[in-house]
Amino acid sequence: MDKIQTILDNYQKLCGYCDGIWERVRQAFPGEIACRKGCGVCCELQSVNQLEAYAIRSHIEGIDGREPLGRKRKSAYVCPFLQDRACVIYGVRPIICRTHGLILRSTEFPHAHQAASCPYNFPSHHPRDVAPELTADIDRITKNLTNLNLAYCMVNNIDVRDEQLIRVPLKKLASLFG
Ligand code: SF4
Repeated sequence: MDKIQTILDNYQKLCGYCDGIWERVRQAFPGEIACRKGCGVCCELQSVNQLEAYAIRSHIEGIDGREPLGRKRKSAYVCPFLQDRACVIYGVRPIICRTHGLILRSTEFPHAHQAASCPYNFPSHHPRDVAPELTADIDRITKNLTNLNLAYCMVNNIDVRDEQLIRVPLKKLASLFG
């Protein structure tokens, strides 16, 4: 199989792993999750790695009759893909967007290594009381994403030491809409 396709398949598995946590969380905590279409409070992402840029670019280029995104921006920090409080690339949104809102788990966090990522979710639960299987292990997720991105860069001869090439601005990807 094509190397890029293999990397992309594994990236999609990682996306599915994050989405699976969300499914379990929504079942376990009905009424405790504020994340929904129309929120967008956390949508401040400005750049992605090369692999995620490729996934987004492929998606946008495959849209028939795509139209330019609205130019209305409330703040320079708002993600360019947030339009009318909804993500226009929701199906291919980056990994960080798929974990935001969950309780995150990392060995770098103090106190039981678990911390909230959104002040509106889990109002009745302390982060440390949420079962680990209902949290996002961001050490593991980040390590997997980093390795997949490195593999993607190697296959495409992208020099990951080049600061200009490490991250791709979302603004540049959003301009593909026209
Ligand atoms: S890509 Fe979508 S989900 Fe992620 S920050 Fe931008 S608008 Fe929000």
